[in-house]
Amino acid sequence: MKLSELRNGETAVIVRLSGHGGFRKRIMEMGFIRGEKVKSVLDSPMHDPVKYHVMGYDVLLRRSEAAMIEVLPEEEAKKELTPAPTFTSMSICETCSGNSCASCTLKKISTRRNNVINVALVGNPNSGKTSIFNALANQNEHVGNYSGVTVDAKVGSFNYKGYRINLTDLPGTYSIAAYSPEEIYVRRHLFEQMPDIIINSVVASNLERNLYLTTELIDMNLRTVVALNMYDELLASGAEIDYEHLGAMMGIPMIPTVAKNSKGLDKLLDTIIDLFEGNNKTIRHIHINYGNIIEEQLAPLSAELHKADDLPQQFPVRYWALKLLEGDKEVVNQLNRCMELPRWQHIAHNNSKKVQSQIGVDVETAISGAKYGFINGALQETYKPGNKDTQKKTRRIDRLVANRWLGFPLFILVMWVMFSSVFMLGAYPQEWIEMLFGWIGEEAAAAIPAGAMQDLIVNGIISGVGSVAVFIPQILILYLFISLMEDSGYMARAAFIMDRLMHKMGLHGKSFIPMLMGFGCNVPAIMATRTIESHSSRLITILVTPFMSCSARLPVMVLFAGAFFPDHAAIVLVGLYLLGIAVAIITARLLRLTKFPKDETPFVMELPPYRLPTLSATLRHMWDKCAQYVKKIGTVILLSTVVIWFLSYYPRPEERTENRVQSTENRVQRTENREQSTEYRVQRTENREQSDGINESSFIAMIGHAVEPVLEPLGQNWRSSIALITSIPAKELVVSTLGVLYSSDSDESIQQDLQHSGDFTPRSAAAFLVFILLFFPCIATISAIADETGSKRWALFSIAYNTAVAWIAGFAVYTIWGLF
Ligand code: GDP
Ligand code: MG
Repeated sequence: MKLSELRNGETAVIVRLSGHGGFRKRIMEMGFIRGEKVKSVLDSPMHDPVKYHVMGYDVLLRRSEAAMIEVLPEEEAKKELTPAPTFTSMSICETCSGNSCASCTLKKISTRRNNVINVALVGNPNSGKTSIFNALANQNEHVGNYSGVTVDAKVGSFNYKGYRINLTDLPGTYSIAAYSPEEIYVRRHLFEQMPDIIINSVVASNLERNLYLTTELIDMNLRTVVALNMYDELLASGAEIDYEHLGAMMGIPMIPTVAKNSKGLDKLLDTIIDLFEGNNKTIRHIHINYGNIIEEQLAPLSAELHKADDLPQQFPVRYWALKLLEGDKEVVNQLNRCMELPRWQHIAHNNSKKVQSQIGVDVETAISGAKYGFINGALQETYKPGNKDTQKKTRRIDRLVANRWLGFPLFILVMWVMFSSVFMLGAYPQEWIEMLFGWIGEEAAAAIPAGAMQDLIVNGIISGVGSVAVFIPQILILYLFISLMEDSGYMARAAFIMDRLMHKMGLHGKSFIPMLMGFGCNVPAIMATRTIESHSSRLITILVTPFMSCSARLPVMVLFAGAFFPDHAAIVLVGLYLLGIAVAIITARLLRLTKFPKDETPFVMELPPYRLPTLSATLRHMWDKCAQYVKKIGTVILLSTVVIWFLSYYPRPEERTENRVQSTENRVQRTENREQSTEYRVQRTENREQSDGINESSFIAMIGHAVEPVLEPLGQNWRSSIALITSIPAKELVVSTLGVLYSSDSDESIQQDLQHSGDFTPRSAAAFLVFILLFFPCIATISAIADETGSKRWALFSIAYNTAVAWIAGFAVYTIWGLF
């Protein structure tokens, strides 16, 4: 708990101090040191400040400051102590000359709590944060996935030298200003979560730009260690750097690392512990000089802020003053509790106008100029650029890959190879999985006596889950390609090549990849939008992806096109895909025009140098995606197949009792003569085929009848309505549902059964197809939308919008067809 929450008269042990360096130093000088006991003595009449007793003194502390100190109440510590643990003696206590007294044990407890270090990874995109994260957090246990509103952070924990380290992989940013959602996210994380230590990963061979973010961390005066990552590339280029000197100048320890091969990471961790324990010699707070004119205007503002007693202690006064002077929007959010904020803003506004009139540029530009000046100065003394051209390889490849004429065909070729591998190579393991589930189904059918239980397990769970599990190989192959493309740097080129086209849709080049993936499966496609930095582009991409006809819709299309448009099947298929794309484009344009008139992040995209992907990263990526998919199968899909099964099985029609009698007879017969079991199985299958047609009294039939009026204008009847409803959990279920609805004795052709049923004409079949195409893909997609947007509202919007579009388009097709 926080010290500010400690009630009058209660005692606690100090566990952790947060906030910027200056604050921590001041508070430590007053006796608030980890492991010390502190007692809340007296609330002032206004509840602020509070008098605390620590190290034999009475000290006054503001509530806002006390909130930065984490404590463990004595009562709780004692509870944790039963049964009393035995401690090995380390230091001799004055009162008990051992460590058995209450004060000693409390200290032990607090050390135990103390050993948790919260570390955050910040740095430019592509600087190797995730590589560091994986190399460190993968050492053992627990890696979780947390999605935020627009971006997400990964959290992992591991033990090192008796410490528990919680590591957070934050999204990549070029700075911690508050322009992009990522930047705001990172800043809020630093402000709200107050990590103990920051790892700032920088690309060693590209210090000038990478250290910009570091200068912002210097302003924030947070305990930071710089990981000079990709040190191998620096060495390869022949460059030299005196990083110890550089670190001393910037007041931040710097450790060379090669995250790809886990080199230098132990040293990095040791430094983290040193920083945490206050044993690092390099760290110190420096003020970057922003030049006389700015400093002159900054000083009076700082002085005003110093007077305030409600200023948050996460960052130093100078930082707040700088941000106010810059007119930073986020700072207003973070200081909104301060009484004097309006006055400060007023002063800041005036002062920044003065700066602008004197320098001729706005404060922000001037400050960032000064930051680059500081970096250049520091590098001048410590860095010697290499003479070997390491970019040569990249430039050569790019001359081919991003070539005006060759780039596009090459890209198409890559896509073609990717998709044909997905479908062709994936087909074999798919068949094996199909066989596996078929076998499991048969075995289960033989093992479980006929009846509701058998039907649930065999026709509900096994066939339902099986029909979705068969896509696992495709997903793995798809992600093999995507992972290779991402890690090598080709993905950025693909986005670059497609950017012009996507821009016409109001989207970003990077939107292209997820939309393309949507043809495979919408769920991973929506997850792949994470690479899009721009918030609005990402949202629009997420919302239009469901119109990309996924592979689950393909069987339905093939079935109907074959049955009702046998002479033009291919044209119908292509037409449907194109229709989906067209609706996606229209939707994107509409969203851009109405909800998101402007793309809030400027269009800049980095083309990183080509790098050889590592096997471990690729395999991890594939495994991650596979695990996510399997989890979905085990949850959403499983549940919905059970629900559908239930709805179509109950209530039981009267005649079923006969069946059941018959099946009991079967069972008797089976026990009587085992050798006839094959015969029995054939007979059983026949039985099922006869009884399997739609259960007309079931709930699902009732639902079909209820929904029929809504779909009647599209030429649908209650049976096709059921098929459309069962497509909600997964489009894969449509074909199997139709199979049940229209099943007859002949085995080969649901197709013919559909033709002969009289339920469909080409006209109503066309409407059905269009509806299936545009209707929302499946529950898994909707839940992916909810996860990735971080809001149920967008998921609901997607359901409503896609359903409406599907209905209108289906209606249009049916009506217009009728005119001819
Ligand atoms: P992030 O965007 O900051 O999370 O960066 P990633 O961890 O995804 O790394 C970006 C690319 O740099 C990947 O292709 C990595 O394989 C590569 N990479 C990471 N660390 C190193 C390193 O120390 N040396 C080299 N040569 N490449 C690295
Ligand atoms: Mg990353």
